[in-house]
Amino acid sequence: MEQAEKRDIRQLSLEQLTEYFVQIGDKAFRAKQVYEWLWKKSAKDFDQMTNISLSTREKLKSEFTINHIAVDQMQRSGDGTIKNAVKLYDGMIVESVLIPTEKRITACISSQVGCSLDCNFCATARLKRMRNLNADEIYDQVVAIKDQSEQFFNRPLTNIVFMGMGEPLLNYANVLESIEKITKPDGLGMSPKRITLSTVGIPKMIKKLADDEVKFNLAVSLHSAINDTRSAVMPINEKSPLEELGDALKYWYYKTKSKVTYEYVVWRGINDKEKDVDALVKFCKIIPSKVNLIEYNPIDDGEFQQASEDALNLYVSKLEAAGIVAKVRRSRGKDIDAACGQLANKS
Ligand code: SAH
Repeated sequence: MEQAEKRDIRQLSLEQLTEYFVQIGDKAFRAKQVYEWLWKKSAKDFDQMTNISLSTREKLKSEFTINHIAVDQMQRSGDGTIKNAVKLYDGMIVESVLIPTEKRITACISSQVGCSLDCNFCATARLKRMRNLNADEIYDQVVAIKDQSEQFFNRPLTNIVFMGMGEPLLNYANVLESIEKITKPDGLGMSPKRITLSTVGIPKMIKKLADDEVKFNLAVSLHSAINDTRSAVMPINEKSPLEELGDALKYWYYKTKSKVTYEYVVWRGINDKEKDVDALVKFCKIIPSKVNLIEYNPIDDGEFQQASEDALNLYVSKLEAAGIVAKVRRSRGKDIDAACGQLANKS
């Protein structure tokens, strides 16, 4: 008889593991021990679980596997940024990035293989969406970067941003489960205040985040506060225009009392006029917010070009005059295609 396919033990919750151990006549606390090995200690092999008896380990081995991602290729940028091509258990590849600054080490991680949204300035949008990542595949990217942070910089990982490949709010359950594991003491024990989820802004899902009273930070890729302009660069805006996004953000603020960060690229001839700035200032008044003006990372033939310094300065001065914090963010890791919007499995 052919052996039944082994299950991935990391798909089981602590409750399910507990049920399993009780059912095989073992102690309930065994589940907690195994769970810690799987998540807190990232064990890749049952034989690492030295406080579990040999016979129990053998039984686990006969029924389960431990799936893990593997860093397939690592590239280092001149500015210290590291880009990982990460192989998932079915051979698919996503990318994750370690971004070092003086004060922080940030992990930028992916939530989907490819992306289904067609933002036409983003390299990932050129890849078809293949599938969602499981919670463990998201979590493992963080662990891999945490290890690299200690190995190469001798510093701890301080921040996590869901700004890699994919739209995190279209993989809601797995993203939230991964964040739970990242923040829980029997996971990585990181503070949710150090985690930022970045989204194109799907109103229904932003309201769901609010209802779930999440404690992490929310960033919305805005790029324009004028419907026609935003729809031209982000087709999602046709389905969910700015009015709906604004309503969802009001609900977010009402429930969580957390402000939102808008990510915004200024392109020559697209959103670099005074009317664009004024529309953004107005949109920023809907709820408490700040703006990150991100440098554009060219991805192809030059359909989009970074706007002039004058245009950026106009944004900064008008936002600041209205009492809104605005920062210009210079790109990191451009030489290895690791910057925002450049992740496209090219390596
Ligand atoms: N889907 C999510 C997260 C991935 S994109 C989102 O859209 O927010 C992470 C950030 O990079 C977003 O703000 C996105 O608008 C920005 N981005 C995409 N392509 C870019 C490019 N070529 N140059 C600069 N920023 C880009």
